[in-house]
Amino acid sequence: MKASVDQEGCIACTLCISVCPEVFGMNAEGKSQVIADPIPPDSLAKAQEAADTCPVSVISISG
Ligand code: SF4
Repeated sequence: MKASVDQEGCIACTLCISVCPEVFGMNAEGKSQVIADPIPPDSLAKAQEAADTCPVSVISISG
């Protein structure tokens, strides 16, 4: 499974980084970026939680 973040839509709230720091990190623009690709199996549930709770729904999880 892979995660992706739509950089255009990210509002840099850092929620996903708090929920799942194994997969999401902050880039130079202060927005979230994926730092683990593919998603480590142990982090899949938290990555999905981050996607589900992103306030602007710009995180995608796909196989
Ligand atoms: S939760 Fe969504 S809006 Fe917030 S930093 Fe992560 S990707 Fe960006």
